[in-house]
Amino acid sequence: MQFNKKPTLQVVSIGIILLTLVFLSVLMGIPYYLSKMNEENGQILASQFFVDTQQSVDANKFYGPENSMLDWQKLENENFGLSNASFWIKLKIEAAQTQNEPLLLIDYSLLDQVNVWFIAAQADSGERDTVAAYSTGDSFPFYNRIVEHEQFLFNVPSSEVDLEVFIRVRSEGAIKIPITLWDKNEFIEYSGLYKLFAGIFFGYLIAMIITSLFVYSTTRNPLFIIYSGFVFSIILGVASLEGFAFHYLWPNWLWVQEYGVILAFSMTAILGISMSSRLLELRDCFPNIYRLFSALRLVYIFIILSCLFFSYALIAPLFMLLLCITIPLICCLSLVLALRGNRIAMYYCATWLVFFCSCILAALENFGIYSTFVDYSVIIMGGALLDSIILSFALATKFNQQLEQAIQTKDIAINKEIEALEAQEELLKLQEQNKIDLEYNIEERTLELEIALRELAEKNQELERLSAIDPLTSVMNRRYFDKRLLAESRRSRREITSLGILMLDIDHFKKINDNHGHLCGDYCLKLFAQMLKDTIKRPTDVICRYGGEEFVLILPNTSLEGLQVLAERIRLAIQEKTILFESKQLSMTVSIGGCSRVMGSEEEHAIIIGYVDKLLYQAKETGRNRCVIEEYQ
Ligand code: GH3
Ligand code: MG
Ligand code: MG
Repeated sequence: MQFNKKPTLQVVSIGIILLTLVFLSVLMGIPYYLSKMNEENGQILASQFFVDTQQSVDANKFYGPENSMLDWQKLENENFGLSNASFWIKLKIEAAQTQNEPLLLIDYSLLDQVNVWFIAAQADSGERDTVAAYSTGDSFPFYNRIVEHEQFLFNVPSSEVDLEVFIRVRSEGAIKIPITLWDKNEFIEYSGLYKLFAGIFFGYLIAMIITSLFVYSTTRNPLFIIYSGFVFSIILGVASLEGFAFHYLWPNWLWVQEYGVILAFSMTAILGISMSSRLLELRDCFPNIYRLFSALRLVYIFIILSCLFFSYALIAPLFMLLLCITIPLICCLSLVLALRGNRIAMYYCATWLVFFCSCILAALENFGIYSTFVDYSVIIMGGALLDSIILSFALATKFNQQLEQAIQTKDIAINKEIEALEAQEELLKLQEQNKIDLEYNIEERTLELEIALRELAEKNQELERLSAIDPLTSVMNRRYFDKRLLAESRRSRREITSLGILMLDIDHFKKINDNHGHLCGDYCLKLFAQMLKDTIKRPTDVICRYGGEEFVLILPNTSLEGLQVLAERIRLAIQEKTILFESKQLSMTVSIGGCSRVMGSEEEHAIIIGYVDKLLYQAKETGRNRCVIEEYQ
């Protein structure tokens, strides 16, 4: 599943870039107009300067009557760099210029100590009056100022004679003394416009902070917090540089005012480095550079801490040097990454290039080497603004990348889950199929087993049947007889029916064997059995070979009379039968003993057999070929 939202995102991005550019160009119109106002209305006065490296205590020597004895030089460059000397400026304001009570402006807010003396020198008498004397600077609380303004402003007293103005400046930081004379109304207009510009600048950045804090509150991405801190530290830095912080934030905190610029921009550097590390993923991709950056960050932390112990004059050059290392380093690194096609690095490179260029331009402008059409502070503000905008793009892109990555990871996870589910389903299907197969197999095997069991049972039955049959005569054998006699005895007892037993013995059978051979004897036995089968009609009657040439008939539900008839019929059938064996004719007779009885006790059948045997013996004794059928006594 892919979210197809790139085209709209690009359109929105281009729209925002265009809007920002329009906004910036309109905003940059203000400084241009400001610098024109400055040029037209800020009157530059011919001045001379003297550097008092000894820091003489006797100021009167410089602004007193004998000042002309000193070696004053023409002031051409208002920048003096870092120095702990006192700088003296001497200039002249004509009497006519003082009539509207103009304002004398020193357009640099970071000077520690500024003293101004307005001296009226009478042309005729040569008498010198100190008309006004002011002592100010940011080593005094803000509200000590005569005119409460970020830059140093002095009311020029109106005078009948020309005024000599002496200015003494001392500062631990960079010394810059741009002096102009302004008409009050024009300055108010100029200052108002400048504050409008600064207001837009700060307002825009504050809006960026609020927005990214909102974004942080929903995304919880720490980059947005770092970005907010980064922009906030820029605001503090620029506000310190421009004197707004001293005016509105810490008018009485002189220590903070002294180190404010270093503290704020060190924070900017620390947060900038943190942001670089995260945005460019240095920890994973470039561990060495990550370590270098971490070390740099520590150095900046050290700078912040050292503000507690060392003077501004000592820390400021160190700080500048460090900035000179950090900014080109980040610039180069992001350039290399950008050239490798890293999109974030492109934005980042642009950010730091803008920062780098604005710093260089500001430095050039500040030190009077190269003059741009706007003031250096405007360059820094514009640069910072552009920076924060580009950075916010970098941030948005990074966030988008992370989002896409997260979506991709989620997609992969979902796909894996789907695959796992499918595999599980497949497994379940397979299991189901296996179960069905197994059940089918079991059924099949059970059926086969049942068939086999049935066959086995049949075979057993057959075996049993065979084991119960006499092989020669195919009638039931003695073993079967014993079981059957017991069963029929029980049935007779249960149903109270007469059970008839006939015992048959072929007469003089030994002779047949002796005279005609055993094969003939066997044939006669088979024939005899067949004749018995033919004679017996009831299916419940059973013929058994009792042993040798003796046979027994079990005749259930047969009375004594029925028994006599049947025995006689058998005897006659045998007697009348002529047997043909190997062209020999022979005949045989049979003696039969029998009885019929409703069985009483369990053991009675054995007694009955003995009794029938006895009757058979009687038949033999009484001449053979006869039947003795009697009631059991
Ligand atoms: P009686 O009239 O007293 O019964 O005389 P008998 O000869 O029939 O009686 P006996 O018990 O003395 O002889 C039985 C003979 O039957 C002995 C044996 O040779 C013969 N015999 C027994 N079983 C078989 C058989 O399976 N086959 C053949 N061929 N002869 C048998
Ligand atoms: Mg016998
Ligand atoms: Mg016999």
